[in-house]
Amino acid sequence: MSLFEKITTPNGKTIEQPLGLFINNEWVKTDSTIDAIDPSTGKKITAVYAASEKDVDAAVAAAVEAFENESWTGLTGSQRGDYIYKIAEIIKRDAELLASIESYDNGKPYEAEALAGDLVEAYEVFKYYAGFADKIHGQFIGAEVLGKDKMCFTDPTPLGAVASIIPWNFPFMMMAWKIAPALATGNTVVLKTSEITPLSALHLGKIVLEAGLPKGVVNIVSGYGKDAGNHLASHPDINKVAFTGSTATGQKIMEAAAKSNLKNVTLECGGKSPYIVFADSDLDKAVEWGFSGIFYNKGEVCTSTSRFFIEESIYDEFLEKFVKFTKENAKVSQPFEKGCTIGPLVSSLQYEKVKKYVEIGQKEGAKLLTGKFHEGEGYFCDPFIFADCTDDMTICKEEIFGPVVAITKFKDTAEVIKRANNTTYGLAAALFTNNITKAHKVANKLQAGMVFINSNGDSDIHVPFGGVKMSGIGRELGTYALDLYTTHKAVHVNLALED
Ligand code: NAD
Repeated sequence: MSLFEKITTPNGKTIEQPLGLFINNEWVKTDSTIDAIDPSTGKKITAVYAASEKDVDAAVAAAVEAFENESWTGLTGSQRGDYIYKIAEIIKRDAELLASIESYDNGKPYEAEALAGDLVEAYEVFKYYAGFADKIHGQFIGAEVLGKDKMCFTDPTPLGAVASIIPWNFPFMMMAWKIAPALATGNTVVLKTSEITPLSALHLGKIVLEAGLPKGVVNIVSGYGKDAGNHLASHPDINKVAFTGSTATGQKIMEAAAKSNLKNVTLECGGKSPYIVFADSDLDKAVEWGFSGIFYNKGEVCTSTSRFFIEESIYDEFLEKFVKFTKENAKVSQPFEKGCTIGPLVSSLQYEKVKKYVEIGQKEGAKLLTGKFHEGEGYFCDPFIFADCTDDMTICKEEIFGPVVAITKFKDTAEVIKRANNTTYGLAAALFTNNITKAHKVANKLQAGMVFINSNGDSDIHVPFGGVKMSGIGRELGTYALDLYTTHKAVHVNLALED
């Protein structure tokens, strides 16, 4: 197998796909491979080289060496920013190609989501953090605070070689969320892509070469979680691991980090987010935002609001409108078809998982209002709406990570807050009401890292993103992400010595 392959995507774009690992600015072959599957057909697109522990060691060594090399650490913040901005510009230029490969590998709608969503955001994230590279500086604590005999300052320094481990639902975007702030703050990186969607993030290697980054600053490995991922998270020369994925894996990563070298950890994990619709809402808008809140990216979104709580007096009307809106607006098709809003689920495994939950939902007595699995090739299904659910049902408790919503009704505010919070997760929560006081009071009580008032899933690169409880630790995006990749050295200067 060679290191590159010309791939033509279903929308007719021909793209040179890297297949190797990217280490020290070179493409590298290994002893094993992973197939990349088109979820629209279940057929193989290509295969990429998979990293063994030895290959991960080589990537880590490259990142460590780059961190010791003046060609990266000797740069001014502005020079670092130039490199990051170049990456942004190349992403913008190649957005159609990158979005095409993303949709081909992941199944997400090409036009509405991969191109208009993920690729725009990836560009914006690199552009945003490029601007921060020369604005990271410390504090001075002087005589007014410490007295004339002492002064102190803080020196924000990068952590060193850091690891990024990303999931399959937003592969290119998750890469951007992690790599851009890590580089802006002066770190070097080993990125591990998801074995389910390995293709798009490998293009970062090509972009890094074109942008001219010094060797070893960015390294990319494809590989399985249990070996390559675990080895990276356990590596004693890695000083931080930033992870997005399931809570179960997050727990393993934290354990590996603790046991190896007590490395710094950021976890963006799963969710079972509530969506509360009060009777005084603009109902049509609540329906619309409810639809995108659960069915965007086929429901394969960590913040997707998979539990709907609808106030009793509008319950029947909401259900009727929501089912109608869903039937009219869910265009389930091959992701490159015009108007597609829901592509295939990402893999056969995910398809089987969603199937299992739909069966459990029916068995446990939830009322299925609409939804079906498609016959034939690919992993397609129409979105599933379950009504009359109870909080103890499995589909109300466990993260399904697919286009399945469980709807229940509620009587009053205190009750719905209690029930919304009755979960081990705490990633996002959304609510609809025209009562501004109620909106803020409820938002304040919800145990979630992010609350959306009169919207849903409305994340923004300028605003911190992350969860509480078992949804994670730390905040990505905004200025908060800079702190994830920086340590603040405090320097104490004794001025009490004789001249
Ligand atoms: P996953 O946990 O299976 O895998 C995520 C990544 O971790 C992959 O790259 C995988 O190879 C790697 N991995 C697996 N086992 C590992 C181990 N033992 N050590 C190190 N790395 C390991 O998750 P997934 O199925 O790819 O993604 C879906 C999950 O991600 C969902 O639970 C979803 O909620 C969550 N997610 C969270 C966010 C967020 O920001 N909170 C965003 C997207 C997805």
